[in-house]
Amino acid sequence: MDLIVGAGPAGCAAGILLARAGRDVLIVDRALPRDKLCGGLVTDKAARLLAERLGREFPAGVVAQSSRAFEICDGPELLNRAEGTRLLRFVDRPRFDAWLVEEALRAGCRVEKGECSGFQGQTARVSGADVPFQALIGADGVFSAVGKAAGRALPGKSLAVGLQVDVPRAACPALAGLDAARICFGYLRLGWGWVFPKGGMLSIGLGGMPGGREDVVEAFRRFLEDCGAAGARGLKVRGAKLPNESWLREPGSGSVFLCGDAAGFAEPLTGEGIHFALLSGVLCAESLLAGGDAASRYNAACRAGITRLFDQARRARDLLLREPFRSLAMRRFRSGTGVMERFLRVLSGETDYAGFFRGSLPGG
Ligand SMILES: Cc1cc2nc3c(=O)[nH]c(=O)nc-3n(C[C@H](O)[C@H](O)[C@H](O)COP(=O)(O)OP(=O)(O)OC[C@H]3O[C@@H](n4cnc5c(N)ncnc54)[C@H](O)[C@@H]3O)c2cc1C
Repeated sequence: MDLIVGAGPAGCAAGILLARAGRDVLIVDRALPRDKLCGGLVTDKAARLLAERLGREFPAGVVAQSSRAFEICDGPELLNRAEGTRLLRFVDRPRFDAWLVEEALRAGCRVEKGECSGFQGQTARVSGADVPFQALIGADGVFSAVGKAAGRALPGKSLAVGLQVDVPRAACPALAGLDAARICFGYLRLGWGWVFPKGGMLSIGLGGMPGGREDVVEAFRRFLEDCGAAGARGLKVRGAKLPNESWLREPGSGSVFLCGDAAGFAEPLTGEGIHFALLSGVLCAESLLAGGDAASRYNAACRAGITRLFDQARRARDLLLREPFRSLAMRRFRSGTGVMERFLRVLSGETDYAGFFRGSLPGG
C-alpha cells in the first residue's frame, strides 16, 4: 500500500495518478477539511499541468476571480500595470483543496483523518496505529513529520513568514475596483506585499525573509494602512511559514518521498507553491509507476523540473531585492511594462529566469 501523508495539492496529485494506475493508496491528513492560509494565486502553468498530466480542466467553480493584469507598487506608489497573455486565477483555497480531495476519492484513493508522527523501516505511525507501507509520500507541509523522521527536515532559519487578511472590498475603498494581482515592494527587505482580488473580497498579505531587526507585524500594519484597510472592522490576521531559502536536492530516498512544501518546493522569488506541490506530486507518482529505482528517478525529475528554476529564482531575487539593483528595478518598472511582461511569461511557465534576463539585455 502507498501511504500519503497530507491531502494538499502535492499529496492529492500523487494519489490521483497512483490510484488511477491501480495501486492501493491511503491518504491521511490530520485536518479534514483543510484550511490552508494562502494567497490563492494559481498560475497558468498549474492549470496546464492539471490538464496535461492529471487530465482535468481547471475547476471553474473554485475560481473567485481571474485576470491577465499585474500591478507593481513601491510602497504606496503604483509604478505600473502590465497585461500578460495568460490567465492568473485567484482561487478560494478551501474549495480548491476540497475539489482535489474529491478527485483523489474519485480516482480510488482512500482518504482518512489521521496524524502521522513518523516512521521506522516500512511502517509509519498514524494516530497511534502502525501502518505498513510500500511507498511513503510525505506531502505534509513545511513542518513535515515524515521529513523529520527521515532526517530531512527543512531548517527553521530557511523558512519565510507570511501574514494575510481577507477584507471585503467595501471595507477598503481605495482598492475597491482592483482587478489585477498587485505586488508591493518596500515593506520588507527580502519580501513583498500582495493584494489579490477575489470577487467581493481582497486577500492582502505580506511575506518574506525578515532580516535581523525587521518587525514583520509592524511592516504588515504599515502595508494595511497604505492599502487603506487598516481600519476595517474585525480584521483577522493569520500567519504561516513557507519554504524559501532551502529545498531538498534529493527529496526521494529508498521508499520515502517528500513532495511540495515538505521538500521546500516554494519558488524563492515569488513564493509560488501550489504549482510546484502539484508538479512534485505528479513527478513522484510517475517515478513510482515507472518502477526500478524510483527515488533516483524522482530526484532527477525534480532537478530538471523544479530546483533548476529555483536556483535561478534565488539569484533573481537577490538581484531584484538588494541594493543597488532594487532601485534600478523600480526605475525599470516605472519607465515601462517590458520587464513586467517578461516576468509574467516566467510566471506562466513560457520561459525561465535565464530567458527573462536574456530578454532584459540590450537588443534582447
Ligand atoms: C501566507 C501564504 C500565502 C501563499 N500564497 C500562495 C499563492 O498565492 N500561490 C501559491 O501558489 N502558493 C502560495 N503559498 C504557498 C502554498 O500555499 C503552498 O506551497 C502549498 O499549499 C503547498 O502544498 P502542499 O500540498 O505541499 O502542502 P500543504 O498545502 O501545506 O498541505 C499539507 C497537508 O498536510 C497535513 N499534515 C501536516 N502534518 C501532518 C501530519 N503529521 N499528519 C497528517 N497530516 C499532516 C496538513 O493538515 C495539510 O493538509 C502561500 C503560502 C502562505 C503561507
